[in-house]
Amino acid sequence: ERTETATMIAAHELLKKFYHHLLMHTNEGEEALNYLLQRGFTREIIEQFEIGYALPAWNAAVTFLTNKGFSLPLMERAGLIVKKSGEDSYFDRFRHRIMFPIHNHHGETVAFSGRAIGNEEPKYLNSPETLIFNKRNILYHFHEARLPMRQKQQVVLFEGFADVIAAVQAGISHAVATMGTALSEEQARMLRRNASSVIVCYDGDRAGIDAALRASETLTEAGCYVKVAMIPDGLDPDEYVRKYGADRFRHHVLDASLSLTAFKLEYLKRGRHLQNESERLRYIEEAVREISRLSNAVEADYYLRQLADEFSISLDALREQMMIHGKKQQ
Ligand code: ATP
Ligand code: MN
Ligand code: MN
Ligand code: MN
Repeated sequence: ERTETATMIAAHELLKKFYHHLLMHTNEGEEALNYLLQRGFTREIIEQFEIGYALPAWNAAVTFLTNKGFSLPLMERAGLIVKKSGEDSYFDRFRHRIMFPIHNHHGETVAFSGRAIGNEEPKYLNSPETLIFNKRNILYHFHEARLPMRQKQQVVLFEGFADVIAAVQAGISHAVATMGTALSEEQARMLRRNASSVIVCYDGDRAGIDAALRASETLTEAGCYVKVAMIPDGLDPDEYVRKYGADRFRHHVLDASLSLTAFKLEYLKRGRHLQNESERLRYIEEAVREISRLSNAVEADYYLRQLADEFSISLDALREQMMIHGKKQQ
């Protein structure tokens, strides 16, 4: 007698193979496959990530799971199918979508994320929270990334599945992503247990930068050494790698990643015209305030000196200004 958990996982494993077969070897899957190939995914990477395709039909998974002997009420609780309201019948949750299987840290398939082909909404549809899928405790590609993470004592954290896949295709195997939600404390601890340093590599748009700052705080609190990679021109990592190639991504983005403080100071400059005197003074004021938040005195001194050099101001004046902030914070 299998436990409910084991049965749910077994259903996910079988359905994953079914979806993958549909994508790779059927006429119905051709549109989805072409979409992926056109985006730059190779057949090899599609195999590696076991990407699949869910048919447009309302009952393809229902029929498949019934034929395999699974109980439909259990499959509903596994998030794979949905019950029609007020009726005793079910329909497929995922229809006409590219299917990304999501694994737990044992490598078992516990959920899916389905991407629309083209511009339908929502762009990504995820499995709901279930007995086997808890978004807070799962990171995409964590199971596969774990060994390279441990070896390098470093991990690259992305926002999206496509970013992880593009990174792996570019030879960066210590890559993981959140589930389209904010990074949780649990996820931060999962990373800390396997690597000492984390490069946060989120989208270069406003939302991505704000999310990167929040994730960095969570990671710092978990004891990680955090660096932030900035993607230029509002691109996301996937778009950047495909536009400029793996080498440039490595050297101009990952190797050029900044400490959290340096990133914040850089971010404070955005949209400011620093050649204008009053804007320059305001920037210095805010930069000092940011530096005064540092609990490490050596680090604070380091950034203060940099600021003094950058704007040719006396270090004493900056220190005095920082003391004022320090007093305010007490
Ligand atoms: P793609 O390159 O396929 O367009 P992306 O990863 O660049 O995808 P973003 O819009 O940057 O997509 O979103 C980042 C992540 O947020 C996605 O990978 C996904 O996990 C999640 N996400 C995006 N849109 C939705 C949505 N409508 N519902 C749930 N999660 C979403
Ligand atoms: Mn985005
Ligand atoms: Mn993106
Ligand atoms: Mn993208």
